Amino acid sequence: VPCVFCRKDGPLSDEHVFPKWLQPHLAPDGEDGTHRRLIFRAGETEVAEHAYRGQPATQVVKAVCKECNEGWMGRLEGEAKPYLLSMVRGNTRSYYRQGQTLIASWFVKTALVAGSKFKPSLPTEFYSAMFEDHRPSTNTRVWLAATPYTGHHQSDFRPIRIEPDDRPPHSEPNCFSAMIVADQVVGFVVSWLDAVPSTDRLLEEFGPALVRVWPVAEPKVTWPSPAGRLDFAQLDALADTVVAIDDVTAGRGVPNG
Ligand SMILES: [Zn+2]
Repeated sequence: VPCVFCRKDGPLSDEHVFPKWLQPHLAPDGEDGTHRRLIFRAGETEVAEHAYRGQPATQVVKAVCKECNEGWMGRLEGEAKPYLLSMVRGNTRSYYRQGQTLIASWFVKTALVAGSKFKPSLPTEFYSAMFEDHRPSTNTRVWLAATPYTGHHQSDFRPIRIEPDDRPPHSEPNCFSAMIVADQVVGFVVSWLDAVPSTDRLLEEFGPALVRVWPVAEPKVTWPSPAGRLDFAQLDALADTVVAIDDVTAGRGVPNG
């Protein structure tokens, strides 16, 4: 099996979805740790939904080669770590262009690693774009938000099939949304290939609470947003804004209009 990022065959090493350096800051048992996986199977409209209460903090995937793990991904971890740890400790942080790019890249990398367990796999383009540029593609949006919960962690990954009017339905996802929560820090990622998902609801309902970091739009942004922190119900609602669980499990897999 080739590495999801560089496509080279080679021994794959265990990759933590939440890196080891974050784990001391995440709740040790499953009480607050939930994550959800939606499983798409080629040619089937039914989508299996699995909700886990467990320890996503220690979730490991075997999809990345040692060279990527210790190379560009290790460098990205090293660069993002001080910023993330500062936010985890509750510090307000301002990000300039380079910082916004860095933090956005970390969340997209983490979302892609979390999503690498899904079958059918996301199209390789999602991974190769990140591998080649070490930053999110232009077809990607990343926002930061905040929760009041320390130790909370969550990875909610949703592959999406967007079906434009005049084209046949995709058999594999051509879009995904992902919410990665590490302690008080929330990253929300939407990425697509050939058809743009609607983020209208996302912006209508959560706009003020979101700090956009990719593509970089403001020379300086500050986390957390003064508009407030999202509680558990709001986190679930945010994860539903691009594609609701009901739409996905009903096989529609289309974004909310
Ligand atoms: Zn690799």
